[in-house]
Amino acid sequence: MIDPYNRDINYLRVSVTDRCNLRCSYCMPKEGLSLIGHDDILRYEEMIRIIKIAAGEGITKVRITGGEPLVRRGVAEFIASLRTIHELTDISLTTNGILLEAYAERLFEAGIRRINISLDSLNADKYAKITRGGDIQAVLRGIRKVRELGFSPVKINIVAIKGLNDDEILDFARMTLDHPYQIRFIELMALGEAGVENNGRYLPNSVIRERIGTLGTLQAVNGRGNRNGGPAQIYRLAGGAGEIGFISPVSRHFCHSCNRLRLTADGHLRACLLSDEEVDLKGPLRQGGGDAEIGALIRRTIARKPKQHQESCDERHIKKCMKEMPAIGG
Ligand code: SAM
Ligand code: SF4
Repeated sequence: MIDPYNRDINYLRVSVTDRCNLRCSYCMPKEGLSLIGHDDILRYEEMIRIIKIAAGEGITKVRITGGEPLVRRGVAEFIASLRTIHELTDISLTTNGILLEAYAERLFEAGIRRINISLDSLNADKYAKITRGGDIQAVLRGIRKVRELGFSPVKINIVAIKGLNDDEILDFARMTLDHPYQIRFIELMALGEAGVENNGRYLPNSVIRERIGTLGTLQAVNGRGNRNGGPAQIYRLAGGAGEIGFISPVSRHFCHSCNRLRLTADGHLRACLLSDEEVDLKGPLRQGGGDAEIGALIRRTIARKPKQHQESCDERHIKKCMKEMPAIGG
């Protein structure tokens, strides 16, 4: 479906849980989040129904995210059942990788091929510090396993944080010389309480690009730097096996081409990550609403998708949203 700003809204990110087995310092406050009550989390069959209706409204791509999607029991079976929705041409997953080794085969059988794994440091101690206790070896085993099984592309997401992991930028970039990963640098956004805690740690991707440029020439992939309409500017170090992506929601927002909706774990539909405006789908669904009613709510959300997030979302006045990333679905 086309929104009022001529954007084709065909991509739905689904947060299957707000729970997580890590506490990344940029994503959650150290004491964790007040979790959504069990009854308020959408059941899988409710998610499937909403996704089916959304597919009828033009959604063709779905990304499963969270919180940490692999901590929710039955997630592989849920993903497998999405394959019965024929309008969907692309089902992908974002994970922190901690449980990936154990889940990889089931995910492969469920039809997932495209996977994004968050890994903010290559150093075990620093990884544990950023994630507040995460075991990097578990993630590395997971990455090895998905490569062995043939997942492709394997994308690795790094949120660059000044003074924490910015000394590893070149190590991450060098990984693409020998390995076919897409290493993606994501600019730090200030969301919720974690955003306040990380004030002053934002690092623009222009600085990261400049540093990586010292390793060799960065060639835009397909001559454009962005292959398939996604928000990443994609490059390759000359002669490298993998790619380097820059996702710059703060310094170079991509609102003009944003094709996304987000379904939150508690059943609300959001048209913009950085706006707290959302439409309740769970209530009408549980009160017996028919497909036509839910479809109309989805269309209404699309019709009200903001042109862009507030201009105050820059380095000096980063917007503080009420909900944190895990509940919204990053
Ligand atoms: N738990 C999974 C993971 O970490 O990959 C999926 C959910 S997580 C919210 C999705 C993505 O959002 C991760 O790549 C994470 O690094 C990113 N993210 C979380 N908080 C962020 C922030 N404040 N700024 C930029 N990216 C953030
Ligand atoms: Fe959990 Fe992902 Fe947030 Fe880290 S970024 S706390 S892994 S939801």
